[in-house]
Amino acid sequence: MSRNPPTQSQAGKLLLVVSILLSLGNDKISRNVALFDLPVKRTCPGAGECLSYCTSMKPEVGRWNGVPAARWRNFWASLNDTFVDEMVAKIRDGGACWTRFHVSGDLYNQAYVEKLSNIARRLPDVNFFLYTKSMHLDLTPLTSLSNFTVIKSFGGRYDHLIDVNKDDYSRVIEDVNEQRKGEFLCPEGIAALSGKSDEKFCGYNCNYCLSDKKTERTEPHQIKVAFLLKRNGWNGNNLPQPLKPPAPPPAGARNQ
Ligand code: SF4
Repeated sequence: MSRNPPTQSQAGKLLLVVSILLSLGNDKISRNVALFDLPVKRTCPGAGECLSYCTSMKPEVGRWNGVPAARWRNFWASLNDTFVDEMVAKIRDGGACWTRFHVSGDLYNQAYVEKLSNIARRLPDVNFFLYTKSMHLDLTPLTSLSNFTVIKSFGGRYDHLIDVNKDDYSRVIEDVNEQRKGEFLCPEGIAALSGKSDEKFCGYNCNYCLSDKKTERTEPHQIKVAFLLKRNGWNGNNLPQPLKPPAPPPAGARNQ
């Protein structure tokens, strides 16, 4: 299966009427963090060995109720010219302090990077963050913003573009003994090891990755986070077919 995401032309030149799903938190992340997801693998041009342990595939391979469709709707919406306006309104309405892009999915092209940058510029009081393996793209539109944290993630095709002395980065380790000096071990993996997998972490009892550059509510620091490998990754070869883009509304309806 091709790893390339569908293109703008596949979505059609006309405005697609698709609703964005922005959720407030999940079973691990505080409701103070708005989450925006995209389909796994098909929007991950930098994916590499991570495909063998990606836990974000689970809801798509397992066809969890509505999850694959919602991710595809978000993707189609992200192609629209109205995406920035819609996201700004959704994030404002949600009222969360942080927005995390891509618990699933990734930065799939440069135009999308620019759109996320525009969203963050319009919402200077919200802190944005994401993990990415798309280091082949120009990430400066995001990293140059005072309210946007980009955590470069090992395990993909562009690991050689990560500077561990300077970049915020994350990596997956198989054993706690692999943790390097200066790296922070994500407590979620430790809790899962000790059978406390139902605890909540990000934004509740750990803010390590949720740096708040604007207000410095969290002490500014280079993020060097190590995640313990979860051995329940799912096989991406069994992903369901992409959701088809919705038909554009009839011309008359668009002018009403
Ligand atoms: S280190 Fe803390 S903030 Fe970062 S992912 Fe783990 S629990 Fe969340």
